[in-house]
Amino acid sequence: MQQLLSSPQGEIKPAYDVVVVGSGYGGGVAASRLARAGQSVCVIEKGKEFPTGSFPSRLPELRRELQLNGGKMRSGSRTGLFDFRLGADIHVLVGCGLGGGSLINAGVALVPDARVFADPAWPEELVADGLLELGFKRAASMLRPARYANAPELTKYRALEASSAAFGVPPVAAPVVVSFEEIVNPAGVMQPACTLCGDCCSGCNVGAKNTVAMTYLPDARAHGADIFTELSVSHVAKGERGWRVFFAPSNETDASPSFVDAKTVVLAAGTLGSTEILLRSRERGLGLSDRLGEGFSANGDIIAFALGGGERVNGIGVGHPPKFVGDAIGACVAGQIELPDGDELDCGMILQEGVLPSALAPLLPVFFIAGGRLLGAAQSLIKGVYQGPLSHLHTFFVVSHDDAGGRIRLDNGSAQVHWPGVADQPVYARVDEALTKAAQAVGARYIKSPLAATNMGTKPATAHPLGGCGMGQDAESGVVNHKCQVFDGKGRDSVHPGLYVCDGSAIPRSIGVNPLLTITALTERAMVHLARDHNLGFDTAPRVRQEADRVLT
Ligand SMILES: Cc1cc2nc3c(=O)[nH]c(=O)nc-3n(C[C@H](O)[C@H](O)[C@H](O)COP(=O)(O)OP(=O)(O)OC[C@H]3O[C@@H](n4cnc5c(N)ncnc54)[C@H](O)[C@@H]3O)c2cc1C
Ligand code: SF4
Repeated sequence: MQQLLSSPQGEIKPAYDVVVVGSGYGGGVAASRLARAGQSVCVIEKGKEFPTGSFPSRLPELRRELQLNGGKMRSGSRTGLFDFRLGADIHVLVGCGLGGGSLINAGVALVPDARVFADPAWPEELVADGLLELGFKRAASMLRPARYANAPELTKYRALEASSAAFGVPPVAAPVVVSFEEIVNPAGVMQPACTLCGDCCSGCNVGAKNTVAMTYLPDARAHGADIFTELSVSHVAKGERGWRVFFAPSNETDASPSFVDAKTVVLAAGTLGSTEILLRSRERGLGLSDRLGEGFSANGDIIAFALGGGERVNGIGVGHPPKFVGDAIGACVAGQIELPDGDELDCGMILQEGVLPSALAPLLPVFFIAGGRLLGAAQSLIKGVYQGPLSHLHTFFVVSHDDAGGRIRLDNGSAQVHWPGVADQPVYARVDEALTKAAQAVGARYIKSPLAATNMGTKPATAHPLGGCGMGQDAESGVVNHKCQVFDGKGRDSVHPGLYVCDGSAIPRSIGVNPLLTITALTERAMVHLARDHNLGFDTAPRVRQEADRVLT
């Protein structure tokens, strides 16, 4: 039996040194580092804990984990793993659960081009003190990005190689936070080797993906942090002991809120979550920068498809235990084509091949093949998806740059992105052109919006939301400073003591690479500053595994 990280809700204490809200990359780092610094730490997470083996592997299970939120329209449980925010201009997908987006992401871990951090959008101290490099180093030691050594042998990698002829640039293996060999990781957790099942984006049922729930959170727990799930924080306010954090059970929207006090609060509820909490806190009188909610970026992030080429791609996951035994699929992303633009940072892009989770397999004929509903009913899953025309389906993830011109507002109490004209951002035309070429190179047809007939329509969608509480030099340009401290709106540099935002929302511009490593590094850096400012100290040495540790059986 796998030991749970979370405790029963009734065990939450009235006060802690630190309350961390949310448990993605930012929340995991903050909880681990501050627990190691000897602080009493409480983590409050909106979603559920998913022990290894409990991620959805069939369509009905996947459906139960979907939540759709679109202003007044909402459906599904508020703790559903896949949290879709349907917007008027752009849709956003985020992960909801203990471990945040790390549970359902593809795990690609890249460092941005140095020109990203040279942009004056960032506070100048950020790169000046050398701690950002330390942050990236620490992030990499804990999350352990690795390139799969045999990536070029995977069918989907070879398919990407064929597409790369369109650009004259060969693909390279992509670094992903996956354990390709069995290991006891730096948090003391035993992780089996990746089975190359391809289901990373519906949750790793093997335990091989180096999620926050496998790394920083067990480390925090082992150093004494209390972790609570299925509780949603509504807002924060100044309290007798520093801060008061108001929360209620996630699925009991009418419940009267409880609260917990803390000297320090780290908001790490993700781009939409942390911005939402601060917007609600401002409505209740908390002084904040006028930039709150501004500067939303979708990181030039696109998912698109190509179908009909002559060669197999093998880009649909088989899951664990496997639903089909054939050639290895590979982790969700194994290869990428890097297309930097030497002169114009924002015109560069990275094109990655991806895998769709096996639980989606029964839906694929419906979305991708004319008359697919009938075909889906007539053919077996294996024939239709793993051996038939859909075994030729290319999935592409592209990451690039936009102008971060979106705005997050509260609609009906929840965060919604407003970005009129976003579909006209030049990045979408550039990516369309590149993907059309990539598809043509393998004789396939580019499919931009297979979900056009659904609620998603043809609007852009992103899984890389950034901004809303962006860093800035001062309260006129940002919501937080380079240490992730929240400006109080009283003066240019004046901050709220003990209030931090550490997650994707603090990133003030697109970064042109998948963001997990940058969010982790920025939080590692912020924790070094927090510790220095409060005369705390922590080490980051790997944990030696104890008898009572979390084990996978
Ligand atoms: C399908 C998919 C694929 C992706 N692939 C990649 C990839 O390959 N590489 C990469 O770098 N990035 C990828 N990403 C993006 C990446 O996962 C996110 O950028 C990252 O998880 C954001 O980290 P975060 O710390 O900002 O917040 P999150 O990871 O979003 O965590 C925030 C947490 O806070 C919780 N929360 C929200 N509101 C509240 C509240 N009010 N009270 C309490 N808790 C709350 C949420 O439930 C969530 O668990 C992908 C994302 C998705 C969805
Ligand atoms: S490919 Fe399968 S086993 Fe490997 S990390 Fe992804 S989900 Fe886990």
